[in-house]
Amino acid sequence: MAVVKVDMLARSVAEGPSLMTGSIPTKDWMDVPVVFKPGNYAYPTKPEKLRYLDSQQGVSFPNAREWNPEDEDWKLPENWKEIILQGLADRLDRFRSLKIFMDCCVRCGACADKCHFFLGTGDPKNMPVLRAELLRSVYRQEFTRAGKILGKLAGGRPMTVGVLKEWFMYAYQCTECRRCSVFCPYGIDTAEITMMLRELLHLVGIGINWAMEPVSNSNRTGNHMGLTPQAFKGNVDFLCDDIENLTGVRVNPTFNRKGAEVLFVTPSADVFAEPGIFTCMGYLLLFEAIGLDYTWSTYASEGGNFGLFTSNEMMKKLNGKIYAEAKRLGVRWILGGECGHMWRVLHQYMDTMNGPTDFLEVPRSPITGTVFDNAKSTKMIHISEFTADLIKNNKIKLDKSRNAHIKATFHDSCNPSRAMGLLDEPRYILDHVVDNWVEMPENTIREKTFCCGSGTALNTDEIMEIRMRSGLPRANAVKYVHEKHGVNTLGCVCAIDRATLTTLMNYWVPEVQVAGLSELVGNALVIEGEQRQDLTEGLRTLV
Ligand code: SF4
Ligand code: SF4
Repeated sequence: MAVVKVDMLARSVAEGPSLMTGSIPTKDWMDVPVVFKPGNYAYPTKPEKLRYLDSQQGVSFPNAREWNPEDEDWKLPENWKEIILQGLADRLDRFRSLKIFMDCCVRCGACADKCHFFLGTGDPKNMPVLRAELLRSVYRQEFTRAGKILGKLAGGRPMTVGVLKEWFMYAYQCTECRRCSVFCPYGIDTAEITMMLRELLHLVGIGINWAMEPVSNSNRTGNHMGLTPQAFKGNVDFLCDDIENLTGVRVNPTFNRKGAEVLFVTPSADVFAEPGIFTCMGYLLLFEAIGLDYTWSTYASEGGNFGLFTSNEMMKKLNGKIYAEAKRLGVRWILGGECGHMWRVLHQYMDTMNGPTDFLEVPRSPITGTVFDNAKSTKMIHISEFTADLIKNNKIKLDKSRNAHIKATFHDSCNPSRAMGLLDEPRYILDHVVDNWVEMPENTIREKTFCCGSGTALNTDEIMEIRMRSGLPRANAVKYVHEKHGVNTLGCVCAIDRATLTTLMNYWVPEVQVAGLSELVGNALVIEGEQRQDLTEGLRTLV
């Protein structure tokens, strides 16, 4: 899908009629129907993908069919309304947080202008408070006494096909980034409301292919690209050859090796696509430098969990592979690579979903002796925690001058920053691997970081304009430090970010490249016996 020219889009965001530019809607939001047109929706799930998933144990994805959001008739099952309302009732029973979020919003509006989708589109229904209201209004009507008696007067509305269509539109214009929840005095997590909306839609066969195809691949082969074990290993082997060409160091990672001390799990994007492969080369060099006794798994070959964007059951099933492989291989603990939503799942859900993990030990760095008590229960730590600890204990030699071509800033990926509080370790690493790096403006970093705009399976080309709009607040902050300080590299610790921010930068700030933090570590790492070429662009140098 072609996207409009950058200056036209910039003008449209700044001057076009929207709530952001002072235009007041002429109708009540409940009376404004959604209109689907090319460019404002992601393509529906292919029926064969849904059928395959529905046939799998432990998950349910019924009502597979061809349907088109632009059509009047979405070919819903006859009893669709009953299915949705029963689904909502079940979830209100199961998830106490959902019930609280439905009841406790006071409509203070503190969240309203905190969402990047609202800032980029000016669409009132992209204000988090109103996004939640799309569900809350039905909840009021069907599940509260006031709503049952007073209906619209109590903020209720009946469940209709129009409401369902609205859910589809706005559940897929939310990246579940949780920025809004940072500002909500009640801690209402609109991301979880979006998750519920997506779950409910799946009950009647409504979902997007860019989420469900990766889920289907992950379930079938272990990773979202559908790489076979041979292809997965082959890709890593190619990276080892590249490393040898660049540095003279031969790294020999092992796969599915029983008895290794550590299982390493990372997003599969790290092994097959730029710029993730440079991050992967950084991991491989680091592990070689410290002589880590580790193995990859070609079955748990995906850290990124697209199940998070579909249903709780799917998330649990996909994540289960990590512990299953840790058990099969008999490792002591698990090390995880750079990824965003992978870490939300690992940090916030894995323990209760797939634990307890009595067969693993509390992670202890074999190099420094540091015991990571923060992972006492999950038994899994983040590569940034691991690397920062190595640096702090002087266990690796780093030469910052090897990153002299880089003037960096750091993007806090939504999930590692807001879901697990990974704020200082990446900065500590940056301090030690580059001479030059600066922060973006205070209200756009750390817990208040702005999303890339394309997470939660929205990294698909057919909605490119929406992505560029919703990514604008992030891009704007990068542009600011580029113009003020000459920043040319946006560092991050997320595989989706590496893909989405690259597209975003190419559009809004083409002078800035995107790099995983471990790539910058790999650039700076001095390894005994190495014979580095003159790597003017670090591990990206073409030799
Ligand atoms: S900040 Fe919280 S309480 Fe206020 S409108 Fe938003 S969700 Fe409701
Ligand atoms: S979770 Fe993020 S994308 Fe979703 S409503 Fe909140 S700020 Fe917007």
